[in-house]
Amino acid sequence: MLKYITEMKPQYHVASSALVAGILYLLFKSWSMALSCVLSGIFIDIDHVYDYAKEFGFPFKVRDFINTVYSNGISRLTFVFHSWEILLLLGIIAWVTNWTPWIVGIFIGFGHHIVLDKLNNGERLRTYSFVWRWGKQFKFEATFPNDAKKKMRNKVK
Ligand SMILES: [Zn+2]
Repeated sequence: MLKYITEMKPQYHVASSALVAGILYLLFKSWSMALSCVLSGIFIDIDHVYDYAKEFGFPFKVRDFINTVYSNGISRLTFVFHSWEILLLLGIIAWVTNWTPWIVGIFIGFGHHIVLDKLNNGERLRTYSFVWRWGKQFKFEATFPNDAKKKMRNKVK
């Protein structure tokens, strides 16, 4: 099924987050877990705002922001929430807080979102490592080579 999705648009993330949250609710009967899962699975993409604002500044235009993100127009992607390190941290916090439902919900919301993004754009696992991207100074061409190639192809067309 995944290969038919050419890019993870927000509506796919809304659908997948709602589905995963529904399954969590069925398993654990926790509204707070389901709600934090669906919200975090959607709003993890808020980290694009920081990268956009850093490059283009203000005033912030929503349409321009969306166009820029989907045409891969940002040259440095900090992409801070899309990181295995954040996921590990969330897992540890969930563990030490004795699996507090809303924290587990964020862990699963972020987790499934990052895995879907990774499967979908076909980048290497290391692309979702914050430390690795940092080492590449967050340069888009170096950290997202597949997306960068797609961008070139679209320009040629
Ligand atoms: Zn994402």
